[in-house]
This record gives sequence, C-alpha cells and structure tokens, in this order.
Amino acid sequence: MKIKLHNLIFVGMILGVVIGLTLHYLDKAAGAETPKWIASSLWVLDLCGPVIFMGALKMIIAPLILASIVAGVTSLPNIKELGAIGWKTLVYYACTTGIAVAIGLVFVLVIRPGKQSAAQTIRAEREIEIAELRADYERQQGNATSENDSGLLAFIAQQSGDRSASHDAAKFAKLAGAKDRTPGDMFRDDIVKPLLMNPFESVSNSPPNSLGIIFFALLLGIACMFVGEPAQPVIHFFRSLNEVILKITHWLMAVAPFAIMCIMAKLVAENGPEIFQTLGWYCATVILGIAAHVFFLVCVCKFVGGVGPIALWKGLREAWMIAFTTRSSAATLPVTIANVTENLKVSPKVANFSLPLGATMNMDGTALYEGVAVIFLIQIYGGLVDVPFELTMGVTLVIFVTAVLASVGAAAVPDAGLVTMVLVAAAVGLPIYYIPLIFAVDAFLDMFRTSTNVLGDAIGAIVVNRLEGRRLEAAPA
Ligand code: ASP
Repeated sequence: MKIKLHNLIFVGMILGVVIGLTLHYLDKAAGAETPKWIASSLWVLDLCGPVIFMGALKMIIAPLILASIVAGVTSLPNIKELGAIGWKTLVYYACTTGIAVAIGLVFVLVIRPGKQSAAQTIRAEREIEIAELRADYERQQGNATSENDSGLLAFIAQQSGDRSASHDAAKFAKLAGAKDRTPGDMFRDDIVKPLLMNPFESVSNSPPNSLGIIFFALLLGIACMFVGEPAQPVIHFFRSLNEVILKITHWLMAVAPFAIMCIMAKLVAENGPEIFQTLGWYCATVILGIAAHVFFLVCVCKFVGGVGPIALWKGLREAWMIAFTTRSSAATLPVTIANVTENLKVSPKVANFSLPLGATMNMDGTALYEGVAVIFLIQIYGGLVDVPFELTMGVTLVIFVTAVLASVGAAAVPDAGLVTMVLVAAAVGLPIYYIPLIFAVDAFLDMFRTSTNVLGDAIGAIVVNRLEGRRLEAAPA
C-alpha cells in the first residue's frame, strides 16, 4: 500500500518534534557543554533541512515567479481580464489583512497578556533596572534628574540597547538598522526602488526581490499581449519554463517528509518547551487570534469561494504543512501553486498571477501578529519613563494602520515579521530595545503566521477564480 505524501509529511513533523525534544533534554542533562555527538546531529539536521531542502525551494522561487506570471498574464484573453483579476485580488488582500489585524487587536485587548502575572513580573524587574540606571546617571551627572530629562532617556536607551544586543546580536542589529527610517524612506527604498530594479539583479538577490520580479514579469506579459504574433516564442519559453519548474517542485515534495523532520527536530532541539514559561499568555493570544482568523477565512472560502473546509484541507494540506515548518511563504510558493491548481482546480490563469503576488504582499498572519506583539509590549511597559504613554484609542489606530503596512513590507522569509515590527513600534514611540523580549518564541509563532499567510493567499486565488468564472459566464459570448 502506498502511503500518501501528506501523511508522510505529518509523520515527519511528529518524528521531528520527538527527536528535537530528545536532543534538547539530553543536551540539558549533559550540563553546560553540548556533547560533541549532539552538536554533530544538529549540524546534520541543519544541513538536510534548512540548508538543502529550503535552499532548493528558494532556488526555484525567482524563475517560478517570473515564468508563472508571464504564463498567467499571456494566457488571459485580453488586458481587461487582467485588470478584473488584479483589482479583485487587491481588494481581497486589503480586506482580509485589515480584518486579521482587527481580530488580533480584539484578542489582545480582551485577554490582556501583558497584564498577566508573569508579564507583570517582567515589568517589575524593568522598573528596578530603570531605577538603577537613573541612579548611575545621576551619579555621573552629580545631580538629581526630572522624569523627562532627555540626557537620562538617552542614557537608558543606550544601556538598554547594549543589553538587548547581547541577547541576540544578529536579530537586534536588524531591528536597529530599520529604526531610523521614516515611512517616506521606506516607500522610496522598499517599494519604488525594488520595483524598478534591474531584473537580473532582482533574481540574483538573496532573498530574491519578489516585488521587482513581479513588476517586470507583469510588464513583460502585458507587452507580449500587445506585440501579438512576434512575441509567441517569448510566451512559449515562459510557459515551458513554468511547467519545468512545477516538475522540480514535485521532486522536492517527494523528499519533504524527511526534510521537514530535520527542520522540526533542529528547531525544537534548540528552543525546547521552557520558552513558554513567561510568554505563555502572549503565545496563546497570538494562536487564538490566528485560529479566529483562520475560521473567518474558511467561511469566506466556503461562502464566497464555494470550497468547503474539508475539500480545502485535502487540497492544501501539503502546502500548509510545508509553510508551517519552513516558515517561509516564498519557499512554499511552488507547492502552493501546485496544490491550488492541481487539487483545488483553480485556473492557472488566476493562480499563476495571484499566488506570487500574495506570497509577496498578502500576509494576514504577520499583520495580526505585529499588532498583538506591539500592544503586548505596551501593556507591559506602558507608563515607564522611556514609554511615556498608555494604550489609547489613537495609539491603537496607529498600530492598526502600521501593522497592515508592515505586513505588506515583510519579506516572505523566516523572522521577517519581527524586523518590520520596528515600523509599528517606532510609529507609536515604543523603544525597539523592548522587542527582544519576544525573540525566544518568535520562531514558534512564525510557524502559525506563515501557514496563515499561505492559507490567505490560496483562499484569495479560490475566491477570485470563482468570481471571475461567474463574470465570464455572465458576459455575452
Ligand atoms: N515568515 C513569514 C512568511 O514567510 C513572514 C513573517 O515573518 O511573518 O510568510
């Protein structure tokens, strides 16, 4: 009897957790120094999972986006059709992302994870730390300071930044690099410049510049439609390339169960269950918010897209599991396209265009997460001398808008949401040295937000496919 791929992937995930927990506890039992054999096992797991499997998926993303969009656009009967699919897709993205943030805000405001006792212990420790820093500063200055002394605030910021950097220097450096940029800078540097980047540079960047590739592919496809007959060789080339890359995707999917076992084992071995001790309420809030949003998306899929939850799960389970473990919507894209077109019968005309766009721009899980995370931090630290505000209606509104923008700007790679969260924090004046508090659980929560991002993209393709189909049927022949 042949075991189905999705069952094997599921077994891979479970085995990964078991192996990861075993390595984690054996490592702890061995004392301060990690035994050599455990270090070697982690090295092998890293090589087989993140390095080889995710590397191979990432290798095909750039040509896939280029080929699938050119193939999708040039298969449409005319340019008006592209416009119709395009605006429906964008309206769907805008509405579902906004609703995701709103759901996250409701959950974090009702559950109040930052006001629970574990979080309040963190606040009490921070109050002591600030009192010590103030005493140090006053000793240096030789006089007492007032509440909003700018020298004191700068001293606290510098000392706290140094401490945060010592937790995880690489991640903190990314946050610090994004800190001083205005929304105008971000628009120019993260949207306009990438859109117009030389396509060879876009493809060769790591991670690839998806926005630039999408824009160039759209331009290429539209120009082919206008040129007509002489453009046929170009169109054939990209259509064949698209088929060939889907073939490679199937080969990669065949080794996914083993690769996913390695990715899971490494992640669990390195983190262990202890990370939830202080941040349990926060994790629960994010996961409950995501569950509510998934419920909403599934209803949209049923009532607007015409696909019920069981058919959706059966059609999309491989992509969902790969997104959950790889934590990258971009790396999952080849599998998402294969699942949506082959199992859920979405027309490649819609899927080839909307899924690459969705993987780049539409991140419901990330948007929800960013809002919850920043409010959680304000619930803990709001009112301290360096966070001189509380959660008002105005602050919540700013968080809502910036969380949507930050999710659009996030790259479809692991941990990206953590970096763009700086935009949300900076907009309300929350110092970025508070963000490292949630570093420990970020990879875990990234699994939930990435799989929700992919689900949102897939349901978008199903919905637009249904609406387009209806419209085409209604149009006069
Ligand atoms: N890892 C997510 C994705 O690839 C982005 C994020 O970090 O939220 O969709």
